[in-house]
Parts: sequence; C-alpha cells; structure tokens
Amino acid sequence: MKILSRNFGISMNAMITSLLIFFSGWLAGGLVNWLADWLPVESRLGGLICSSCRKEISWLDYWTLFPCKHCGRTRGLRTWLLHFGLGIAFLGVHWTGSPRLSEVEAMLWLTYSSLIVVIDFEHRLILEKTSIAGGILAFVIGVRLHGIGMTLAGGTAGAALLFLLFLGGEVFRRWMEKRRGEPISEVAMGFGDVILSGIIGLILGWPGILAGLFLAILAGGIVSGLIMFSMIIRKNYQAFTAIPYGPYLIFATLYLLFLS
Ligand SMILES: [Zn+2]
Repeated sequence: MKILSRNFGISMNAMITSLLIFFSGWLAGGLVNWLADWLPVESRLGGLICSSCRKEISWLDYWTLFPCKHCGRTRGLRTWLLHFGLGIAFLGVHWTGSPRLSEVEAMLWLTYSSLIVVIDFEHRLILEKTSIAGGILAFVIGVRLHGIGMTLAGGTAGAALLFLLFLGGEVFRRWMEKRRGEPISEVAMGFGDVILSGIIGLILGWPGILAGLFLAILAGGIVSGLIMFSMIIRKNYQAFTAIPYGPYLIFATLYLLFLS
C-alpha cells in the first residue's frame, strides 16, 4: 500500500511537471507568433494582434487560440503549429533529454530556431535583431560545449564558408545574366544566411560546423532537386530558382544537436 501510494505520488508529480513543461512550450509558441507578427513587418513590437487583419486581440483569445473577433478568421496554421509544436518539442526534450544541451538551453534554442524558420518562410528574411539574440545564445552554449577557441573557430568557419558559396552564387548569377542577356533579380542566397551560418557555427563549434553545412547543403540540394523535377513535369521549369538556405541550416543544426 505504501509503495502504491508512493508510486502514485511520483507519477502525479511527473504529470504536473509534464503539464507545466507543455505549458511553457505553449507560451514560447505564443512568443514566437508575436515576434513573427511584428519584427519583419514593422521592426518594432506592439500588442497581441491577429496575423491576418493585424487588429488587436484580447489577451485571453490570443492564448486560447480563439478566432479573431474582428475578421472572424481562425488563428492560422502557423499559430497552431507553433503552440502545439513547441509544447510537444519541450515535452520531448524533458522526457528523452537531449544529448548535448541542458533542458533550458534546448528550449531556448528550439524557440529561436522556430522564429528564424517562420520569418524566413514568410518573408525570405533573416533579421538583424534575431541574429544578434541568436548569436549571443549560440556563443554562450558553444563556449560551454566546446570552449571559447573552438566556438569562435566554428563561427568563423561557418560564416566564411557560406560567404564563399554566396560569392559563387553571385558569379553564377552574373554569368547566367550575360548568357540570357537579361537581368536576374533573384539572389541565390542572402547575406542573412551567411550570418546565420556563423551563428550555427558557434553552437556546433569546430569541426561540427562542417557536418552542419554538409547536411544543410545536401538537404537543400535534394529538396530543390525535387522542386525542379516537379517544375519540369509541370513544364514551368526555370533554370534559376533561389534556395532559401535558412531553414536548412536550422534543421541541420537541430538534427546534430538533438538526434545524432
Ligand atoms: Zn483578424
């Protein structure tokens, strides 16, 4: 009887902890939603707003994912994905642990990663403000994992290697322009990707960044290959299509930090 009640006590505790962890993921999801609604559009922060009509939503509606009272729209896929996604991801970290990061580090990094992916998908942008915050976070975690030397080496290598790729893309773009005789406005890779590569270099360290870049470029190549293939089938093939590298860099880093 005593053992039973003790077991029950432990599992009650575990359940409450799990609920709290899920709730903090839920809050982090709301935070990312809020930042993604404001930062790329106005580069300042305001109140809690509806992502579609940008009118203010009450605090309660915002956190309970109620439809917007002004435009009547449901709160959008991104909102739901972030709230539940981060809630579940936080729980996953808590239950299975992450091989390299502490629980708090993992949660902060997951939150930062979601923000970068959402803004890059929606606006094709990697913002200065998020890069500064990410850089500080990656540096602090990197120094604990690899020491200061290897952290800085990783960051430098990450930025330098992607910068070379960026230059390569520019040379290719100019060559294509000459061949076609018309300007190509799409840029293969933004400078934000170079900065982001430096940031993931800090957290992955040297030589971890090499694996990170390899994975990101491989995944980017495979996905854009598939997209090109579907374009060829649908006969609207364009030889020059930009790959947004940001999400690939982020996913490669998450894979290396959490799953490998
Ligand atoms: Zn609305």
